[in-house]
Amino acid sequence: MTYDDVPRSAELFGRAQSVTPGGVNSPVRAFRAVGGTPRFMEKGAGPYLYDVDGREYVDLVGSWGPMILGHAHPAVVDAIRAQVERGTSFGTPTRPEVELAEEIVARTSIEQVRLVSSGTEATMSAIRLARGATGRAKIVKFAGHYHGHVDALLASAGSGVATFALPDTPGVTGASAGDTIVLPYNDTAAVKAAFAEYGDQIAAVIAEAAAGNMGAVPPADGFNAFLLDTAHQHGALLVLDEVMTGFRVSRSGWHGLDGVTPDITTFGKVMGGGFPAAAFGGRAEVMQLLAPAGPVYQAGTLSGNPVATTAGLTTLRLADADVYAHLDATAKTIGGLVGEALTAAGVPHVVQYAGNLFSVFFVDGDGPVTDFAAAKRTSTPRFGAFFNSMLAAGVYLPPSAFEAWFVSAAHDDRALDRIAQALPAAAAAAASAPEVAS
Ligand SMILES: *Cc1c(COP(=O)(O)O)cnc(C)c1O
Repeated sequence: MTYDDVPRSAELFGRAQSVTPGGVNSPVRAFRAVGGTPRFMEKGAGPYLYDVDGREYVDLVGSWGPMILGHAHPAVVDAIRAQVERGTSFGTPTRPEVELAEEIVARTSIEQVRLVSSGTEATMSAIRLARGATGRAKIVKFAGHYHGHVDALLASAGSGVATFALPDTPGVTGASAGDTIVLPYNDTAAVKAAFAEYGDQIAAVIAEAAAGNMGAVPPADGFNAFLLDTAHQHGALLVLDEVMTGFRVSRSGWHGLDGVTPDITTFGKVMGGGFPAAAFGGRAEVMQLLAPAGPVYQAGTLSGNPVATTAGLTTLRLADADVYAHLDATAKTIGGLVGEALTAAGVPHVVQYAGNLFSVFFVDGDGPVTDFAAAKRTSTPRFGAFFNSMLAAGVYLPPSAFEAWFVSAAHDDRALDRIAQALPAAAAAAASAPEVAS
C-alpha cells in the first residue's frame, strides 16, 4: 500500500461531507488548496501522526502550533488524566487556571490575563476592551494578518480566507467591517497616513507580533516599536496577536525577541497544550476595565476549563530553554534542507523565518517577502506538487501555501532523515509543475 492509497480516510471523508459542510470543521483541513484526500488522523506520538489507514507521517503542522512538545507527551498525558479523574468542568474558579495565569504573567510582559477558549475569542475580546478603554471605534489591521474569524477582522485576512482567495466573506456586514482599516504590512507610510486621517477615531492597531498566517513574514526591524509609538501618540492602543508566536518563538513569545511591550497581547495555541484555551492580557490598569472589576463585559462557560488549563500549564512548565534551543535549531535545519533541495532542482523560492516559524515561498528569490501582496505571488501549483510529493513520502506539511511550518521538541534525527529523503523528489515535482494554475 502506498501513501496515496487511503481507503479509510476516503470513506470517512465521504461520510463527513454528508453531515458537515465540506467535510471538515475548519476549512484548510479539506485539502482544497492542494488536492487529494484529507488524512483522518487517529493517533499522534512525538513528531509523528498516524492516519486511520495506518500510515506514519512526520508532522510539521503540530495542530497548527500547540504541540510544541510533540504529540502525547507522557507527562502532559498523565497530568490531563489525573485532572479528568477529578472532574472536567465545574463552572467555578479552580487552581489550574490560577497557576496557568501565574505562569503566563511570569513568562511575559503582561500584568493580568483573562482566559478564554480560542484565539478568535481572545482577539475579539481584546478589540472590545480596546474600544471600551478608548471610547473609539476604528481598528487598524494589516493585510494577510489573521486574527481568527472575528467579523470586524475578516477584512483581507490571510490563512483560510487567503487560501480560498476570498477578499472578504459574505455574512460580515458593512457595519462590522466598516470600522476596520486594512493596511499593507511593514508599510510605515501607510500607518502614518491612516493616523493622520483618522487618528482621533482609532481605538487600536492590531497586528500579528510576527506574521505567520500568510507564511512566515517577520516585522521589519523596529516596525512593532513604531506601531506602539504611533498608536500612543494618538491615544490609541497596540494589540499584538501572539496566538501563534506566543510561547513558541521564545519562552514568552515574539516580544521576548524584539522587546516591544504592547498594551494588550493575545495568546492561544501553545498555552492550551492541545486543548481549547487562549488568553488576552496587558497592563493591570487596562485589564481592570473588564467585568466584574470594570464595565467591559466578557465571559465564557468553559473559560479556564480545568482540563485545558492543566494541559497548557504542564506544557509550559516543560517548555524550558532546551526546548526552545531545539525548536530554533530544528527549524534552521529543515529550512536549510528545503532550500538546498529546491536550489538543486532549480525551483525559484525563498525560505523565510519568523523566529522558529518558517515557510517556503515559491517566488523568485530576489529578496524577502515583506507583505501580503508579495506572499500572494507564491506559485500555488508548485506548492501543491511539493506538498503532495512530501505527503506521499510520509511528511505532513501544512496543506496550504500560506501557512507557517511548525516543529516540536520531539523532532529528532529519524524524523529529519525522513524529511531529507523526501525532499529531492518533492523539489523535482515542484520544478515540473506550472508556475501558475492553467
Ligand atoms: C490561530 C490564530 C488565531 C485564531 O485562533 P483560533 O483558536 O483558531 O480561534 C488568531 N490569531 C493568530 C495569529 C492565529 O495564528
